[in-house]
Amino acid sequence: MEIGQIPKTNGPVSTEIKTGGWRHWITALGLDRGLRCWLGGCGAIVMLHRVKADHDTDWHGDPGLFTPLHQIAAIIETLRAEGYDLVNMDVALQRLALRRGPRFAVLTFDDGYRDNYELLALLQRLQAPATIYVTSGFIDGIMPDWWSALERILNQGGTALRLCLAGQHHCWPTADPAARTHAYRQACSLLRVATPAARLDALRALEQDHALPILSDSGQRMLSWAMLRELQASGLIEVGAHTVSHPDLSTLSVIEAQTEIRQGRERLEAELRSPVRHFAYPYGDAQSVSGPAIALARAAGFASAVLSYGGPVSTRHDVLALPRIPFGGADTVQHLRLRLTGLRRARNPLPASVDPGARIASNPLPTP
Ligand SMILES: [Zn+2]
Repeated sequence: MEIGQIPKTNGPVSTEIKTGGWRHWITALGLDRGLRCWLGGCGAIVMLHRVKADHDTDWHGDPGLFTPLHQIAAIIETLRAEGYDLVNMDVALQRLALRRGPRFAVLTFDDGYRDNYELLALLQRLQAPATIYVTSGFIDGIMPDWWSALERILNQGGTALRLCLAGQHHCWPTADPAARTHAYRQACSLLRVATPAARLDALRALEQDHALPILSDSGQRMLSWAMLRELQASGLIEVGAHTVSHPDLSTLSVIEAQTEIRQGRERLEAELRSPVRHFAYPYGDAQSVSGPAIALARAAGFASAVLSYGGPVSTRHDVLALPRIPFGGADTVQHLRLRLTGLRRARNPLPASVDPGARIASNPLPTP
């Protein structure tokens, strides 16, 4: 999950392309194709998260995490119609190294949600590959996807969300959807940077207060190891690593971050019985990924690592800090076409690499 953009949003920023607006005319007149030749680099890595069910009418804290299956099909068809070759990360790296070949696109799904299993039939029908970045602790059920737990509590109703975190009490009104969204974002921004122990205590208290098994049922929201093995055996789905517990790496000491990166990969390799070559930084934003984190991914031996922002990929990018194009929520294929142009520049420059061994954070939290 990319709660990295919280408190604004943790997924793609979805804006309407108004008829008559300059963005509308860029795609309506096909000007995006010319812009892509100029600024669109040599490929694109699209970042998605969850597959939204057709009957899903729940309120979501971050709608940008959800994309309906028919929209994923539309993405694949649009990319192909625009001349992109759908490939996996291994082939994308070959294209980057050779600096030739048609433009490539990689579909990536973060975290390992159970609804990703529904992708298989679609990908088989369209013969399109994809990469799923998996947080191993979610699959093992030792770590909850706490943002979904929070969302479940807010979906229960009620007029306020009370959070006790590290001795601090917080309360936000939740009477209407706008208030719920505000409460969700505020709570997420605090929980993201809390120590794992403090976060777990806060969630346990919420579980008790609301009499909802938000922690014990978290495994049901994620893929099982058997499902992951089946997806991988299809030959269309490649599995990448996404740490053990999905921490904000910038809040960890070097040793803690190394352990998260290494153990997440080892767990996947043990269960899938094959090498795991690719990595996605948890949150993947400018706040959580800097030179030291990139150095650790490089030192761990990953062939590639992806961020959660930055636009199209070009040969000038570090393969251990590849940009992605987010997609989800109310986004349409017109939004995708605009993002493929590279016009929408990253709000933050991509992080620069530094030597391994540098500190991951200037003020790392104490090791629990
Ligand atoms: Zn994630």
